[in-house]
Amino acid sequence: MARYTGPVCKLCRREGQKLYLKGERCYTAKCAFERRNYPAGQHGPGQRWRRKESDFAIQLREKQRARRIYGVLERQFRRYFEEAERMPGLTGANLLALLESRLDNVVFRMGLADSRAQARQLVLHGHITLNGRKTNIPSALVKPGDVVSITERARRLTYFRDRMDQLMKHQPPEWLSLDPQRVAAKVLEVPRREQIDVRLNEQLIVEYYSR
Ligand code: SF4
Repeated sequence: MARYTGPVCKLCRREGQKLYLKGERCYTAKCAFERRNYPAGQHGPGQRWRRKESDFAIQLREKQRARRIYGVLERQFRRYFEEAERMPGLTGANLLALLESRLDNVVFRMGLADSRAQARQLVLHGHITLNGRKTNIPSALVKPGDVVSITERARRLTYFRDRMDQLMKHQPPEWLSLDPQRVAAKVLEVPRREQIDVRLNEQLIVEYYSR
């Protein structure tokens, strides 16, 4: 599946918010948003604050923000939305639950990567297992009871050995149970909205697609 490959800090500056797409760098003074808190380009500095945004623009930006946080392109994002609509319960919360259930997101949430982009790489490179089977599809959706871990080969790699210390200290979200010794995480339940710590107003995304 395709993905955005351009400069990611530009996306944070465009959205007027830190999206934490670069892992550790996002928490340092090198963060581009900390240094230039306005959209990139010649007209960037005055853009965001000068004009009043329409309802449509606000809904669109929220949708784009969600796409960028989870690294999903438009077509697939819309598919998630359609799936969320068919599910019982609130569409916005369902949408976020689906996004959180992506394998690359779970790898990120269990502390094996500093960003979702890095987690995606780990999956694509065949280091991750789902229920004991190697899976290289970042968009694979996990469900309660599933176990995400790493391959035997990956256990011998310096990257994962170095990661152990961090894993011992890592606090996963409530819907994941992490076993740092085994480098494995079990999905306990479908993530509920209050367990998902992303700064998004999902209702605006529902309004965007319901126009
Ligand atoms: Fe966004 Fe991280 Fe780049 Fe800062 S360093 S602008 S938070 S991606």
